[in-house]
Amino acid sequence: MLRGKAAIVTGSTSGIGLGIARALAEAGCKIMLNGFGDPLAIEQERKRIVRDFGVETHFDSADLSKPAEVQQLVESSTRELGGVDILVNNAGIQHTAPIEDFPPERWDAVIAINLSAAFHATRAVIPQMRKRNWGRIINIASAHGLVASAEKAAYVASKHGILGLTKVVALETATTEITCNAICPGWVLTPLVEKQIKERAQHEHIVEQAAKNELLAEKQPSHEFATPEQIGALTVFLCSEAAAQIRGAAISIDGGWTAQ
Ligand code: NAD
Repeated sequence: MLRGKAAIVTGSTSGIGLGIARALAEAGCKIMLNGFGDPLAIEQERKRIVRDFGVETHFDSADLSKPAEVQQLVESSTRELGGVDILVNNAGIQHTAPIEDFPPERWDAVIAINLSAAFHATRAVIPQMRKRNWGRIINIASAHGLVASAEKAAYVASKHGILGLTKVVALETATTEITCNAICPGWVLTPLVEKQIKERAQHEHIVEQAAKNELLAEKQPSHEFATPEQIGALTVFLCSEAAAQIRGAAISIDGGWTAQ
């Protein structure tokens, strides 16, 4: 369906981003992977995508907390893939602490990676999308873009912010074939959430399975995690022509979290 298109997926060395990259590759997209991690493990994932789906796949280690590196990521992707048709702003980090103990440098890092990087990447790709009059920008927000939880000041602010950015970009491109939307996942079992499960288990002196069950019971009525594959499938749908008039939307995959 997307054969010949090229996509950047930020933060795609693990978790949701990797699921999205694989889903786009399966749909025929050329892929630029990005993120941190063990170089050998990243190279294995890159090769696995090439082997499984037969699409050109590259990797760029840009640190998205640095605006100049975001710009370079767009430039290197344009060069290596022959243009960028799809941008998935997915990279994200978390830090939990009560506001009075929240380290200002963690606030800055969360806002830089979860929000400002999406601004810089979008700003850099829009001109070429306008030239071709086609593009898809998909921002991975969160249930925390719609509602809050205690001890997540920076994360909740960044995710509410990215929904605002999504709407503005959707309006500015409304009369073109470029669309911009957000996906709002609930709990997905990735390294980002595994860390929170570990911290909860330690804090409450319970085993990790009990911490996992508590986490789900507290927020997610289905009591089941959403999966990177499900988020990948929605991303592919948002890239399709069937989704051409979905603009500025925030689509939840959250097991009912925000229906409450
Ligand atoms: P993850 O920790 O598995 O993956 C995060 C990715 O971002 C990794 O590839 C990591 O290397 C990359 N990254 C981190 N800092 C970076 C930087 N400075 N520059 C470049 N890459 C960087 O986490 P995940 O759960 O897959 O999260 C992906 C996105 O989904 C995030 O935006 C997160 O907020 C969002 N999200 C996750 C959940 C969940 O339950 N896991 C729920 C809602 C939203």
